[in-house]
Amino acid sequence: MRKKIVAGNWKMNLDYNEGLALFSEVINMVKDEATGNQQVVVCSPFIHLHSLAALAKGYANVAVGAQNAHQAEAGAYTGEISAKQVKSTGAEYVILGHSERRQYFGESNELLAKKTDTALANGLKPIFCIGETLAEREANTHFGIIKSQLEEGVFHLSAEAFGTIVLAYEPVWAIGTGVTATSAQAQEIHEFIRKEIAAKYSQEVADATTILYGGSCNAKNAAELFAQADIDGGLIGGASLKSRDFTDIVKAFN
Ligand code: PGA
Repeated sequence: MRKKIVAGNWKMNLDYNEGLALFSEVINMVKDEATGNQQVVVCSPFIHLHSLAALAKGYANVAVGAQNAHQAEAGAYTGEISAKQVKSTGAEYVILGHSERRQYFGESNELLAKKTDTALANGLKPIFCIGETLAEREANTHFGIIKSQLEEGVFHLSAEAFGTIVLAYEPVWAIGTGVTATSAQAQEIHEFIRKEIAAKYSQEVADATTILYGGSCNAKNAAELFAQADIDGGLIGGASLKSRDFTDIVKAFN
């Protein structure tokens, strides 16, 4: 049975002490909520990773991730952080290809394919984000956009390597806007993604792939979204910054 994941994406929020305080609260509140194949992941700024990973130790269903990592192994890239450095903090996951990275930092599918390889080579599990803009949806090109993000970003992987990644469908028009995709709109795309994986690899690989929904997911809409056949949890931005809201989303698994 594929993993069910609720992942928080703190983005560039919370100073060091605020992050530690929030994560301690989150652990206390979710430790008995996420069980079995359910996993809670908090993707924090780099400065928190080592401390959060230490706090998460001992909780099998709680893990920590970064929000980005560089494509090179190491070198003269002032201000950047490598996958190996992320891994050495105790983090397990790394978000790659978030639409804010694509939009503000010019990250292309080609670059993201390299970042995925480097993350995997260093033992990190990528949470690979894909999704269309409002203009692309209105032009009815969203299926093609998602297909090319998959083909150019992750379909170069072997079936075995692909088996370690998590996908997140995040329609750009739903991120931070308060406008959520309806559960039917999200399910339609998740089903499409799973079919593309089955066509590229196998039905077995497709059935084992965790596909998260992200974009204004909150305590009110999470249960309906997570009840869809192909939605295996969520990638949560704004609502991950409040322990009660985030915990309520984790509870929506059940
Ligand atoms: P949001 O962000 O939940 O604030 O819409 C989701 C994301 O960007 O991952």
